[in-house]
Amino acid sequence: MAQSAVPATEASGITPISAKPLAPWAVFFGILMLVLLYFVGAEQGATALISGEGVHEWVHDGRHLLGFPCH
Ligand SMILES: [Zn+2]
Repeated sequence: MAQSAVPATEASGITPISAKPLAPWAVFFGILMLVLLYFVGAEQGATALISGEGVHEWVHDGRHLLGFPCH
């Protein structure tokens, strides 16, 4: 008797979802990533939104890791 490793297909309970309800979340996380990228890459000197070196020091290693010019 031949027995397959793949189980016999049954009607699965998985229903595909469309991308439409996910679109606002994709936009939200896209903007969040852009803000994060700004703080890591450009929050310094003339473009700084927050005075002081706090944010720059906090993301300094990430800045070098991603290859942004620094010092
Ligand atoms: Zn640096």
